[in-house]
Amino acid sequence: MADVAYLSSLLTAHPDFPKKGIVFLDIFPLLRNPVAFETLVTHFMHHLTSHTIPNSPTKKIDVVVGLDARGFLLGPIIALRLGAAFVPVRKRGKLPGQCVSATYEKEYGSDTFEMQEDAIMPGQSVIIIDDLIATGGSAKAAGELIAQRGCKTLEYLFIIELVFLKGHEKLDGPVYSIIQSN
Ligand code: 5GP
Repeated sequence: MADVAYLSSLLTAHPDFPKKGIVFLDIFPLLRNPVAFETLVTHFMHHLTSHTIPNSPTKKIDVVVGLDARGFLLGPIIALRLGAAFVPVRKRGKLPGQCVSATYEKEYGSDTFEMQEDAIMPGQSVIIIDDLIATGGSAKAAGELIAQRGCKTLEYLFIIELVFLKGHEKLDGPVYSIIQSN
């Protein structure tokens, strides 16, 4: 648990960002520090390789899906270390070719996530990674894209979970977060 305390100590909180009333937790200080970044990636790898993911006794992960945008900073590293594919989920209109899409509600209005249709094949084992889960709306939409491709999300992984928002209750699979914030 020393690594969790160490990583937590490096997070910075920014009141009233990006708008009044929101306290934004910034993960970039962790990435800026090579020791912290390595600790973060090693923590995720230890979890993924030495704990049994519910519903996945073989622990085989075919695809790591990273969410726009900070999931793109974590996903490729985890995918490379696992020997898995990395697949991005992006905001609407950014990906070429045939895409599957899912819309989710935000505080004001809605947003749409897209994923290239041929990026994941039916039956593959998929995990989803992002920096933080708040309401769970974006992770839920990403899970819907995986389901549209005939796959199950084995696990949703985050650096931080804002537990008081109960975002994990929206998701169709288990959630793992390194840091739980109240
Ligand atoms: P949700 O869809 O769960 O409500 O929001 C999660 C998404 O919003 C994630 O993609 C995450 O990057 C972003 N987000 C919301 N609040 C914060 C925050 O305080 N810090 C960071 N780093 N990201 C946040």
